Amino acid sequence: MSIEKQKFYISTAIPYVNSDPHIGFALEIIQADVVARYHRLLGEDVFFVTGTDENALKNVLAAEEKAVSPKELVDANAGKFRELSEILNISNDDFIRTTEDRHIRGAQKLWEACKEEDIYKKKYRGLYCVGCEEFYKESELVDGCCPEHKTKPEVVEEENYFFRLSSYQKKLEKLISTDEFRVIPETRKNEVLSFIRQGLEDFSISRSNERARNWGVPVPGDDSQRIFVWVDALSNYINALGYADDSEKFKEFWQDNENILHCIGKGILRFHGIYWIAILLSAGLRLPKTIFVHGYLMVDGQKISKTLGNVVSPKDVVQKYGTDSVRYYLLREISSTEDGDFSYKKFEGRYNADFAKGLGNLVLRVLTLAEKNTRFKSSIKSSIFQKDIDDAWKNYRKALEEFKFNDALEAVWRLIGVCDEYISKEKPWEEKESSAPAISNLLLVLGHVAWMVKPFLPETSDKIFKQLGIDPESETPWEEQELKINKGEALFPRL
Ligand SMILES: [Zn+2]
Repeated sequence: MSIEKQKFYISTAIPYVNSDPHIGFALEIIQADVVARYHRLLGEDVFFVTGTDENALKNVLAAEEKAVSPKELVDANAGKFRELSEILNISNDDFIRTTEDRHIRGAQKLWEACKEEDIYKKKYRGLYCVGCEEFYKESELVDGCCPEHKTKPEVVEEENYFFRLSSYQKKLEKLISTDEFRVIPETRKNEVLSFIRQGLEDFSISRSNERARNWGVPVPGDDSQRIFVWVDALSNYINALGYADDSEKFKEFWQDNENILHCIGKGILRFHGIYWIAILLSAGLRLPKTIFVHGYLMVDGQKISKTLGNVVSPKDVVQKYGTDSVRYYLLREISSTEDGDFSYKKFEGRYNADFAKGLGNLVLRVLTLAEKNTRFKSSIKSSIFQKDIDDAWKNYRKALEEFKFNDALEAVWRLIGVCDEYISKEKPWEEKESSAPAISNLLLVLGHVAWMVKPFLPETSDKIFKQLGIDPESETPWEEQELKINKGEALFPRL
């Protein structure tokens, strides 16, 4: 009898494709990738989805500016986001575009699955920010402008379909306050709760064709309206699993799966923590278990913006420093739930201290010793570092369960520090009896380090395994494999 593997479903938000991907989205997709790879390491059956939101009015406006059709614009830009996944070595299993047929049919199916009494038509007048694709109340504006975009919202007056969000207020409050549906971190959970407690109002879930410029998913049974882009976009999470066709995958990874995680940025918390959950409740579908919310990435202490001219392209940084360096910086330097900062100066500082000197130097020293002194045991089972190794794994696992990527890496680098100290004290380069066992012990730690960095720095992990001559995929447990040292070149040349 085969044991059914535990399922784990993870998604990132899907960014607008009105411009090139910037380093802020790289942060989110890298964080999600670490979680996905970690759960695969735990032996779970993981499905990891990312994609692009292509039905927003913003895309139409960006296309008009470039004098191309919306379709041409989204095709070109979606390609850049897909390429970003490759550049950053993201292990996603699928990439969904909201202009795909499977998505359009799924969004319409979800609309039709909502309780009949939850969707109604009414005349409406509101203040709309195209940048946010969201209505604002007068009281939410700052000096009459959108708090996010600092632009004046337009006055919109039309007849739309509305969703009866007000009737879900009590239910949502209970789900979130009891952690039946978890919002991480606590500060974001409190933010959603306080928004809910102020009173939830029904919200408009469609646009006239005219206002949508005939772009987006048509409302089922009404040719005059398009589905509000947020409502259509959120359904990508189930559409990627084949919701439209009731596929087996949708059953396995959504309806029958308790481990569903959405990774998002703080700016879209309300949509995920409230609207999405209410729609799923109305449609009688399973809810995600957890939403993990990261902060914003700034560049040199300032918000990333085209007008400020501080947009950093992740592609450029990768070309200059390598994929794992970018992954490392964003995971180690940036607290996973707070706002963080990217600067080339800090980046190079981290690289030299933690990569060239820290990990790179340790690997080089130990392998050099092992090449010279071949009397070390060819397989490694016990270690004087056992307690340090156990502690590191304990702290590493705990940090990852809590999405504290920086703490997990700190646990690994603490272990590296223990080895550095040991080498200075033990001097295993000297011709003496204790040198060979000392080298064996250090090699064992390198093996553990390679495993620990695997979700974070997949390329580096592979390189270390190769240098040790260990096959991580082999049936033979890695600690029992015969080592074949192959020093090769330094992992991280100094800048
Ligand atoms: Zn706005």
